[in-house]
Amino acid sequence: MASAPKPEAEFLGPGPENSAGAARLRVKEIFYSLQGESRTVGFPTVFVRLSGCPLRCGYCDTTYAFQGGSWMSLEEIGNRVARHRPRYVTLTGGEPLAQRPSTVLLERLCDAGYEVSLETSGALDISAVDQRVSVVMDIKTPGSGEEARNVYANLAHIDANDQIKFVICDRADYEWSRAKLDELGLAGRCEIRFSPSHGAGEPTELAYWILADQIPERMQVQLHKLLWGNSPGH
Ligand code: SF4
Repeated sequence: MASAPKPEAEFLGPGPENSAGAARLRVKEIFYSLQGESRTVGFPTVFVRLSGCPLRCGYCDTTYAFQGGSWMSLEEIGNRVARHRPRYVTLTGGEPLAQRPSTVLLERLCDAGYEVSLETSGALDISAVDQRVSVVMDIKTPGSGEEARNVYANLAHIDANDQIKFVICDRADYEWSRAKLDELGLAGRCEIRFSPSHGAGEPTELAYWILADQIPERMQVQLHKLLWGNSPGH
């Protein structure tokens, strides 16, 4: 398998401003689809996918978003979102928080009246994210290859409106995740999801493990993968 391209430093700071001094973000794609996971799974949603990510998870299914994309002002992004008249808007990546103006975009989307969620790796500081946003934060398992990047200080900013996701690659990841639930006192604090890593075994296995151990958390499979596979734009 070809190795993934290295993270681009250009994404890790504020984006360049346009001639009017307005902040811009590098956007890989904006599309209207069904939410594939999380609390709002199945609902029509506008996705704003930003370019760039400083992580390289072994199971990453959006490597095409590591590079490229177009610089867009926050106003342009807002206009593109509004065309679909959505109830739900999700900011995703890549890692959206790797571009600092992303927190301003989140605020503006909330101000516009959308129900906004943010998909983030858990490796960057979430403290500046608007409280109205439902943060869907990963805790990276050993199987991801990026466990060392977890910023556990982020848990201080997680509340009942937020969601935490463990992507489980194998039995060892499952055992690790179960232990983390206790160690970090996550039960009852926010919604927890155990999600099987796509293509890393049968999802049924994870279902049996959860049932056998009577874990009171929710398993999810990715609806968009069932519907559209790995194709971009869904
Ligand atoms: S954090 Fe997300 S986008 Fe970045 S490498 Fe991991 S899975 Fe891919």
